[in-house]
Amino acid sequence: MIKAGVNVCRLNFSHGSQEDHKKVIAIIREINHQYKLHVGILADLQGPKIRIGMVQDGGIKLVNGTQITLTTTEMVGNNEQIYITYTNFPKDVRAGEVILLDDGKLQMRVVDTNNKDKVICEVVHGGILTSRKGVNLPNTKVSIPSLTEDDLDNLAFALENDVEWIGLSFVRTGEDIIDLKRIINRSGKTARVIAKIEKPEAIENIDAIIAATDGVMVARGDLGVEMPMEMVPVLQKMIVKKCLAASKPVIVATQMLESMITTPRPTRAEVNDVANSVLDGADAVMLSGETSVGEFPVIVIETMSKIIKNIEETAYPYHTPKKLDATSPRFISNAVCGSAVHLSTQTQAMGIVSMTSSGYTAFEISSHRPKAVTYIFTNNVELLGTLSLLWGVRSFYYDKIDSTDKTISDVNRILKEEKLIMPGDVVINTAAMPIEKKGKTNMIRVTIVE
Ligand code: PEP
Repeated sequence: MIKAGVNVCRLNFSHGSQEDHKKVIAIIREINHQYKLHVGILADLQGPKIRIGMVQDGGIKLVNGTQITLTTTEMVGNNEQIYITYTNFPKDVRAGEVILLDDGKLQMRVVDTNNKDKVICEVVHGGILTSRKGVNLPNTKVSIPSLTEDDLDNLAFALENDVEWIGLSFVRTGEDIIDLKRIINRSGKTARVIAKIEKPEAIENIDAIIAATDGVMVARGDLGVEMPMEMVPVLQKMIVKKCLAASKPVIVATQMLESMITTPRPTRAEVNDVANSVLDGADAVMLSGETSVGEFPVIVIETMSKIIKNIEETAYPYHTPKKLDATSPRFISNAVCGSAVHLSTQTQAMGIVSMTSSGYTAFEISSHRPKAVTYIFTNNVELLGTLSLLWGVRSFYYDKIDSTDKTISDVNRILKEEKLIMPGDVVINTAAMPIEKKGKTNMIRVTIVE
């Protein structure tokens, strides 16, 4: 799968044990080592996901118009009562609110609550309900904290294992992200955060969430259950646009090539969805069931890679204009990065080559979507996998900072040796001068490769 084009692997902590995830991490790191790659790891925390418990015989039939009780007392569910993992549910819910089960396939309506441990519901759209299915409460103000006990435990595990990205599910406010970042900072690790947008409250607070986070995922599976699904295409475009403007990478996720779980060829509608997500401006497109439980994981990645490459070769709107925020404290570096991209377009450069230890320049240049590849040299090992999520960026470990002139000619030499640039090619170099001070990007040089 990695040879076929994977840049980042998501470990979904809603499934599997830490022991399972540890084995996967070891395999990814081994492949990175063997093939000199920087495939990044995204540890996706479950967040305040609500589930039902186990049910009798592995599945029970919910019949339209019948009543059933959701209880917060753990038990094996039957046709009268089902356990729900959300302890405060009877206190938080109101009569008339909607309960969706199994990604919205089944629907119930709240009839009454005893405000303690039981909620009486009426089945609106019945069907077979199997054990541990997810519950969505689109109308209810859910009081579960954004990081549960399980999340904190999985977060500690992910940080110990130096994953580059932490995903948080069911984010509701910018504060959810700030709280998570506080814990990461206290641990002394540098993992970055992905806010998964899948709740109406997240849409209401989207600007504050984007400002607080390092990256975003349009988690269309739950978003399309929590909100009317016909709104998802417009929400996807709105979120991607805001992320590009804020220089935050954005992942479009879920059901991208769903039919390939069981068949080796996608539907034409799926091909269009992947292509249109790339055209919207996504940094990354994500697969879930297609590669975790599907029958054709390698063919799925090859297919997705082909769709992305084709759209980038034929119809991609490279270097779309981006407004510079004159009030930003990074105004100067942003202007330099934007100008470097502009120069790369004018000179038809083959690369924009930069040095960074914080990664800021890489996020900024990538957000302009230059046609030239962005080559980033860094002495910050953790950054190598982090940058794999970003659109059009390739990173290299480099710790021989010398004078500006010597460093620029050395990194260009490395790219030439790797056959990524050729004599006669134009490259745009950016750097912070004086280079040894590791300041903010303030210099651009246009080089013709010798
Ligand atoms: C989603 O809901 O689209 C999503 C990506 O979340 P998960 O796969 O973790 O349920």
